[in-house]
Amino acid sequence: MLVQALRDEKMEEFRKQFLKLHPYDRAKFYVEQSPEVRKRMYEYLSPAEMAEIFDHLDIEEDEYKIYLSEMDPMFVAQMLAHMYADNAADVLNELDKNEVANYLTIMDDEAAKDIQGLLHYKEYTAGSIMTTEYIAIHANQTVRSAMQILKREAANAETIYYLYVVNEQRQLVGVLSLRELLTSDDDAMIHDVMNDQVVSVLVDEDQEDVARKMQNYDFLALPVVDANNHLLGIITVDDIVDVISEEATDDYSKLAGVPDVDIQYTP
Ligand code: ATP
Ligand code: MG
Repeated sequence: MLVQALRDEKMEEFRKQFLKLHPYDRAKFYVEQSPEVRKRMYEYLSPAEMAEIFDHLDIEEDEYKIYLSEMDPMFVAQMLAHMYADNAADVLNELDKNEVANYLTIMDDEAAKDIQGLLHYKEYTAGSIMTTEYIAIHANQTVRSAMQILKREAANAETIYYLYVVNEQRQLVGVLSLRELLTSDDDAMIHDVMNDQVVSVLVDEDQEDVARKMQNYDFLALPVVDANNHLLGIITVDDIVDVISEEATDDYSKLAGVPDVDIQYTP
């Protein structure tokens, strides 16, 4: 029915049905279509709506190139800007350097800066899977004013479940869960209600160690810091689920004595 609506050029009908689907199901539909049908989707959906699909795509990394080449460069840039910065960086890491530079130039500055900051982290490290869209507050502010920050930032943060407390040098000094914030007195100071024993991971730590830490401590997210404890980003549990399933595939292949899938793809 969705395909039919696209073929018959019934844009409103298509949008009405399609946007009802969960983003994962939208992504599944998208990859099942022919390039011609996909081109119509680019016409009928906004860059922000396509970004939601790309945030949920489950494809081989080298396939991104193919999909992006079907779109107008300006559309690609706007879509990448709407994606979570870590996912956008993953996509860009599959492209040639000059292509990346091109997209970042035409993209809005703030999004470009976020993504650029994530591009140079080594594969399989905490830095490569973290995102910079977290909520940071200060120890010397009240719960009420932290709440205002939360409200302002909530739409763009990857998770609003934890608020990370930083000092003037942006070093990580505490953490507070959303539940703890909501149940604290409005006039309380953050330093009196936060936890100051923060579990964090180093930016160059192996992603498997991050997965283990997340499992052991049962947090929904972990903060990522540099050697001087500056807060750089967060890793959420959904990113860790991907790491765990990747590692499971690797281990299983080794056990079965077959080369792992990545190796089969290298020419
Ligand atoms: P819920 O009832 O939904 O579990 P919660 O407030 O208990 O709410 P949890 O995710 O269970 O939230 O977090 C447990 C505790 O760990 C909270 O006090 C939270 O502030 C704290 N916490 C969260 N992240 C970290 C971290 N990286 N290091 C140390 N403590 C953390
Ligand atoms: Mg709890």
